[in-house]
Amino acid sequence: MPERRGLVEERELAALLGRFGLAGFRAGQREAIMHVLAGRDTLVVMPTGSGKSLIYQLCALAMPGTTMVISPLIALMKDQVDRLQRLGIPATFINSALSAQEQQRRIEALARGDWRLVYVAPERLRSATFVEALKQARISLLAVDEAHCISHWGHDFRPDYLRIGEIRRMLGNPVTLALTATATADVQQDILTQLQIPDAARVITGFARPNLVFHVQFTPDLPAKQRAVHKVLDVVRGAGIIYVGTRHEAEVLAAELEATRRVPIFLYHGGMERSRRTLAQEAFIHQPDAIMVATNAFGMGVDRPDVRFVLHYHIPGSLEAYYQEAGRAGRDGKPAQCVLLYAPQDRALQEWFIQNDAPSRHEIARLFEAIAARAKDGLARLTLDELFRATRLSEVKLRVGLAQLERVEALTRVYEDGQVVHFALGALTEAAQESIQAQVEAWRHYKRVQLDQMVKYAETTTRCRQEMLLEYFGSREPVNAQPCCDFHVRQARGEPHPSFAVQEPMHGRRAIPQGQTSLDVTAQLFLAGLTVHEIAAKRGLSLTTVYSQAAQLIALGRLALRCVVSEAVEAQIRQALAAAGAYESLAQVKASLPASVDYGQIRCVLAQIKREG
Ligand code: ADP
Ligand code: MG
Repeated sequence: MPERRGLVEERELAALLGRFGLAGFRAGQREAIMHVLAGRDTLVVMPTGSGKSLIYQLCALAMPGTTMVISPLIALMKDQVDRLQRLGIPATFINSALSAQEQQRRIEALARGDWRLVYVAPERLRSATFVEALKQARISLLAVDEAHCISHWGHDFRPDYLRIGEIRRMLGNPVTLALTATATADVQQDILTQLQIPDAARVITGFARPNLVFHVQFTPDLPAKQRAVHKVLDVVRGAGIIYVGTRHEAEVLAAELEATRRVPIFLYHGGMERSRRTLAQEAFIHQPDAIMVATNAFGMGVDRPDVRFVLHYHIPGSLEAYYQEAGRAGRDGKPAQCVLLYAPQDRALQEWFIQNDAPSRHEIARLFEAIAARAKDGLARLTLDELFRATRLSEVKLRVGLAQLERVEALTRVYEDGQVVHFALGALTEAAQESIQAQVEAWRHYKRVQLDQMVKYAETTTRCRQEMLLEYFGSREPVNAQPCCDFHVRQARGEPHPSFAVQEPMHGRRAIPQGQTSLDVTAQLFLAGLTVHEIAAKRGLSLTTVYSQAAQLIALGRLALRCVVSEAVEAQIRQALAAAGAYESLAQVKASLPASVDYGQIRCVLAQIKREG
């Protein structure tokens, strides 16, 4: 068992802090350090930039032996190690960017106990030489940074993180500190379960943003949304971000604002060329009163502290995403507004993402085959870009697919060398495929629960919004913002609280509320799994009408073509369209196809082709 120390004295703590050139602790740091130094496993959940690294760095100095930090962010490792070395603290990192010789030298030094801190990437835990050295070293603190990577639920799932629990046992259960900025209750639980530290102390803090005012406005249809946007632009001065659910709608809204407002309007989404995106981002950062209309592709690393409002035109998929995006307002600490426009039918768009973001069984097999086709002697070397081109899968599907293939050991990432990944090939067995599909279903379920929580936030009008948000993150910080949200504003004015909630929920899906268009209703029924014929019967509409709505939804990116046209029929239609001359009418195309193919199906394929540009 590693040595466990009692509580350090206040004086000692101050001296250690001084070594880092810091005058005082930030919220949560002292509490977490005290837990660790008392020998308790600890989970720290604090937002990005709040100073989580200091917790293990300081503990490393106060504890005997070596602290091992596991982090997937190789670029940040070097920065941290450089800084520690400048402070005279013996620290190093071991990763595959180093020459084999240099790796060996550092591993030997680790076994000798030369380092106070050693940073490694999770894939290092696969190396037998490294694990042997670890056994000889005296690891008194195991710090797992970006700990959410251990959870299947997260977007950053790293199969190698699953090895940490075992390594920990092998090292005699050193004190373990898990750190993350990702805070949903399920992810927290997953971290504790996988690391086998069920009784860990939890320090969750730093989420309160007292200068932000949170509003939700009920905007049942498009005109209501547009009015709400203009009202915010009329009232709030300064820079702002408007988050829109789809690229297409972002383009439409940006064009509308460009034509009607006198402030600079910028557009940013993942479908734009990289150079245009960079230009828009740079211009937004530097121009006063700039408005950015964007999808959620925008925001990471955008450093503009004086954003005065963040308006959500549609609900995002989770409260976590919402808080992260809304939290880009008011980084300068001055008052800023966070406005969410809520229409019950916006849920359908998020449902669509949930259905389409996860790879199907067929797509998983395609991904595996694409890698296998490039393998020589069971080893494939390729870049993610190559895979992207070969499989035509979306970025999300590619990432989720690879992580799942690695989890079932159909693939093993043996080595990463810049952009090039080296995979060792296993077998994609029937059982492995079943296991992946089970995970994908569980993932969808989890996403739906998250969406339910987002909707609940939007529909609740009788509670403080800041309180709801902090509660969601499991934080017990008091809310002491003035003013803080629409609920408290109404309360102060003595106004009644409206009701946005829709009554008759069925399986997490909503009944059809007033204010929805016929298109929205059809979209929801498709997402609920009904066929064109079933929808026509249920709604008393003609097949032609339902097909024409389907084509519109496909053009808007709200419906997958596969909900309406099978793969085989799509191939037939595409072939017929390709064979037809430019001047041939749809009737001629139809005549060249089997009679069972409907005009409506042809229109849907055309909508899809148009969408693909
Ligand atoms: P996180 O890992 O939580 O995203 P970091 O550990 O990278 O955050 O820290 C972010 C910044 O905060 C760093 O520049 C760090 O030096 C600084 N910092 C950390 N703790 C303190 C403190 N107590 N006082 C002042 N600055 C601090
Ligand atoms: Mg960090």
